[in-house]
Amino acid sequence: ERARDILETVKDRDETRLGVEAMELLDAYGIETPAGDIVDDPADALEVAERIDGDVVMKIVSPDILHKSDIGGVKVGVGNEDVYDAYEDLITRAKNYQPDANILGVQVQEMVNLDDGVETIVGMNRDPQFGPLMMFGLGGIFVEILEDTTFRVAPVSETEAEDMTKEIDAAPMLRGARGNDPVDIGGITETIQRLSQLVTDFPAILELDINPLVTLPDGVKAVDVRLTVD
Ligand code: ADP
Ligand code: MG
Repeated sequence: ERARDILETVKDRDETRLGVEAMELLDAYGIETPAGDIVDDPADALEVAERIDGDVVMKIVSPDILHKSDIGGVKVGVGNEDVYDAYEDLITRAKNYQPDANILGVQVQEMVNLDDGVETIVGMNRDPQFGPLMMFGLGGIFVEILEDTTFRVAPVSETEAEDMTKEIDAAPMLRGARGNDPVDIGGITETIQRLSQLVTDFPAILELDINPLVTLPDGVKAVDVRLTVD
């Protein structure tokens, strides 16, 4: 199956750390990701951007740069006319950061409307004692500051996944606080379960984070992923 092929390719490349180049893995498990593609030249980047309606997000794709924003490696709201410049700038930034970085290209991605949504994180860490520990919490920039997270051992049942969405301090935000619409809780619990299935099927995945999983009133989207394989 597809997920196996993707992980095989990774092994061949001799990388243990992976970023958005592994998003197809999520796709293979039915976790929704924004439209887009990874390209290795500006003309192709423009072609992908034109295919996507409206502004796009562009990100550096390199197993050596897993915290992309830290080096200015994520550009949000790029119009078609700025795609070439953005492409060159991302590559320049990556090379300045690490001259010998293995740069796989640039991801051109559909922009998700964060105004209507909440950035959450869904992750897994393989604990030597408990096994695969699934994590759910508030994502984006808040994840480190607030440490608003909850854990369960995989595989998680539907009820357990639902409980996770209720346990975090920010739970009211998901259910529509301050006049906002509630987000798609069912989409979150489904994502937790699908990810739980993925890491159960592939013990070689040591850790994996979807950060953020953008949760919206009408669905959820995994816009970023990083993982470690053994
Ligand atoms: P990294 O975590 O490596 O810095 P991300 O891909 O998570 O890179 O992007 C950083 C931030 O940029 C996200 O937390 C989110 O706020 C924003 N972002 C990334 N991709 C999108 C997207 N497709 N639509 C809207 N915002 C995005
Ligand atoms: Mg991220």
